[in-house]
Amino acid sequence: SDTNEPSKDEEKPPPLAGANVMNVILVAAECAPFSKTGGLGDVAGALPKALARRGHRVMVVVPRYAEYEEAKDVGVRKRYKVAGQDMEVMYFHAYIDGVDFVFIDSPVFRHLSSNIYGGNRLDILKRMVLFCKAAVEVPWYVPCGGVCYGDGNLAFIANDWHTALLPVYLKAYYRDHGLMKYTRSVLVIHNIAHQGRGPVDDFSYVDLPGHYLDSFKLYDPVGGEHFNIFAAGLKAADRVLTVSHGYSWEVKTLEGGWGLHNIINENNWKFRGIVNGIDTKEWNPKFDIHLRSDGYTNYSLETLDVGKPQCKAALQKELGLPVRPDVPLIGFIGRLDHQKGVDLIAEAVPWMMSQDVQVVMLGTGRPDLEEVLRRMEHQYRDKARGWVGFSVKTAHRITAGADVLLMPSRFEPCGLNQLYAMKYGTVPVVHAVGGLRDTVQQFDPYSETGLGWTFDSAEAGKLIHALGNCLLTYREYKESWEGLQRRGMTQDLSWDNAAEKYEEVLVAAKYQW
Ligand code: ADP
Repeated sequence: SDTNEPSKDEEKPPPLAGANVMNVILVAAECAPFSKTGGLGDVAGALPKALARRGHRVMVVVPRYAEYEEAKDVGVRKRYKVAGQDMEVMYFHAYIDGVDFVFIDSPVFRHLSSNIYGGNRLDILKRMVLFCKAAVEVPWYVPCGGVCYGDGNLAFIANDWHTALLPVYLKAYYRDHGLMKYTRSVLVIHNIAHQGRGPVDDFSYVDLPGHYLDSFKLYDPVGGEHFNIFAAGLKAADRVLTVSHGYSWEVKTLEGGWGLHNIINENNWKFRGIVNGIDTKEWNPKFDIHLRSDGYTNYSLETLDVGKPQCKAALQKELGLPVRPDVPLIGFIGRLDHQKGVDLIAEAVPWMMSQDVQVVMLGTGRPDLEEVLRRMEHQYRDKARGWVGFSVKTAHRITAGADVLLMPSRFEPCGLNQLYAMKYGTVPVVHAVGGLRDTVQQFDPYSETGLGWTFDSAEAGKLIHALGNCLLTYREYKESWEGLQRRGMTQDLSWDNAAEKYEEVLVAAKYQW
């Protein structure tokens, strides 16, 4: 088959799940395109569709942060107690691309679109308690296409600490009482650095029988004895996944596990890594809606040599940089925090600016790092732009218009931007950790293999060295560069591969435990 064709996924007949057709409910704090702060939102938006293409009945449950036009009130009202307070929730439903989207509505979620994880620790905790309590009951109360899912062949997929209470509630409220006996839960680790930590007293908010307290207690040298939601979720879930092989190894280490490595090691039998796919409709240079105006253009492997330069020129123009086809344009997109290694880029800026390059950085986050972006732009107006903000459109346009994408993350569970970049013929330069190590093989000029440049420790000097080699190849070895672009673009990075592996895990959770 023609793997060069970017529209492959849309054309492929749906692979059917056969005898193992399941009801799958993915529960997450964010889901693109409705709500998104990062990779979790992208995964929640795309994995369910891929599972539905395999023949499963699939639902996504997510808070209703805003009014979503396509979602209708199903008329169901439920009340839940959170910290002694009675809270009413409503459920909204939409059926899109073969997936049921259920939005849980409560005043505590409203108007949080741009600030999903905002508020103080207790506010967030209470929101997540309410959300998980309501989500675990969705199969009983929310009719989708007229019928509730019920618990027949049902599996939940929970994501990160925000929904790590769901596997615990499934157990404590149902399975411990002989109900929903065959319903399984899988907990996916997208980022283990955030765990829902608090003082042990927080247990009073989660509304569980006293004998559950121990599963939340964790001791580590940093936090001492504390309350840890992720810890309890990891223990209660039937299976635990993380979003790449590299990361599945790292979270078992003292440095990478952030205090949870022992629990993961003890539960190794139920643990596995599956690399994320990408939504090849949203992130495909051939169909990208953000490339349809302002001088940009859609392109594919066949039209790479005219389409990408046109996008680059449009980007340079939009950013007010000199429109020059020959100058390497280096991009960065991401949350501005310690994890993403923005400070390493900052350290490398003087060197970069001594080169004939252009740089554009897009991100929001830590105020001091936002300041780094602004300062860079101010100091090097003729070659650098620091765009402080969250703009999906701009992210797409940078991905299309840049030649090189920098990702010097200190740790990176999977990382999506490097995958998007490769799909758009943009060559990644990455720190070889977690998912970045899994997905970007170092370029080898002798065999003309590999997908980009990698460096092996989070130091500005290493970044400069790798980027230097990358720029040399860009300038001097056009054929090698095109080879890199083409290899990147022809990979099958779709969710179909990953969804098949998720299915294996869901089936295993059902039969082996
Ligand atoms: P993480 O989930 O750790 O933030 P990922 O690389 O897995 O990192 O996913 C980041 C996602 O968020 C990508 O889709 C990326 O394009 C998007 N993103 C991050 N920052 C911004 C921004 N400032 N504007 C638009 N999109 C952004």
